[in-house]
Amino acid sequence: TQLLLFFMLLSGCLLIGLYRTPERTLKEMITHGLLKKEFIPFYQPIIDTRSGKMTGCEVLIRWQRPDGELISPNQFIPIAEHNGQIKQLTVYLLELIIDQFQDELIAESDFCVSMNVTPQQLEDDEFLATTINLLTQRKIPAHRLAFEVTERIPFKNLAKARSIIQQLSNFGISIKLDDAGTGYGGFSYLQNLPIDTLKIDKMFIDTIGTNDLKSNILDSIILFAKHAGLKVIAEGVETADQVEYLHQRDIHLMQGFHFAKPMPFNEFHQYLQQDLRV
Ligand code: C2E
Ligand code: CA
Ligand code: CA
Ligand code: CA
Repeated sequence: TQLLLFFMLLSGCLLIGLYRTPERTLKEMITHGLLKKEFIPFYQPIIDTRSGKMTGCEVLIRWQRPDGELISPNQFIPIAEHNGQIKQLTVYLLELIIDQFQDELIAESDFCVSMNVTPQQLEDDEFLATTINLLTQRKIPAHRLAFEVTERIPFKNLAKARSIIQQLSNFGISIKLDDAGTGYGGFSYLQNLPIDTLKIDKMFIDTIGTNDLKSNILDSIILFAKHAGLKVIAEGVETADQVEYLHQRDIHLMQGFHFAKPMPFNEFHQYLQQDLRV
């Protein structure tokens, strides 16, 4: 893992152009970026294909460098996860989202904003308290926020995670299992956790219409979700054929370039206004 981390850091540094500022570590750059408000949320619609309307959106962070370049989260989230800066980054993002959506989030609606969190944040009492305090102070109904937690990284303390997820769930925040099927935990996670939604990873959606063996896994995940009474969101939907395939299996919550790409707040806000008027 150390070797892997070294390469991750190296590629991160190269991409972000650290070679131009060798005196700064990436950690310092993230701290500086937070101070300069360089981290910005993009929003991607989640569509209910039965009505054609948005039921919510996913928040996807980007790092906008001073030269305007947008750095993908894959280049810095793993590093922030490793060095603990993800805590600050997530709370910063949560406050920003609440600021941007204040009006929409207190209005009567079921529109739900879904944020990515690291498994370790769901083992953290402080994060739980911060989230609950923020929503309470800003008078935002808890069901308007959801957390997506990936299956790719295991919980360190499953008992603790269960307790925190239960408290979030009791408070009204829903928890979605992200990257379902790719992961470590498998479906055993779900037997012990109050998770209400599976997000099927693009990796499986990509197999639709191919001979890839993984397409069997897609069907298994869908069957499992049905039996367990879980909602399903298909992620990375790019083609009409994929939509059709998912419809045949009674899946109608979808997210992907076929509908819309992640976009900055202003653009998304316009999209949202149009959607609500339909
Ligand atoms: P994810 O949670 O699985 O998010 C879905 C990724 O698929 C996003 O990549 C999204 O832009 C992309 N995507 C959505 N639809 C399509 C499609 O139709 N085609 C293609 N090719 N891609 C599509 P993105 O934005 O680069 O984010 C990558 C990952 O970074 C996310 O994967 C998530 O794990 C992580 N991430 C993003 N924002 C945050 C954050 O605020 N906190 C944490 N902890 N992780 C984050
Ligand atoms: Ca996600
Ligand atoms: Ca996902
Ligand atoms: Ca994914």
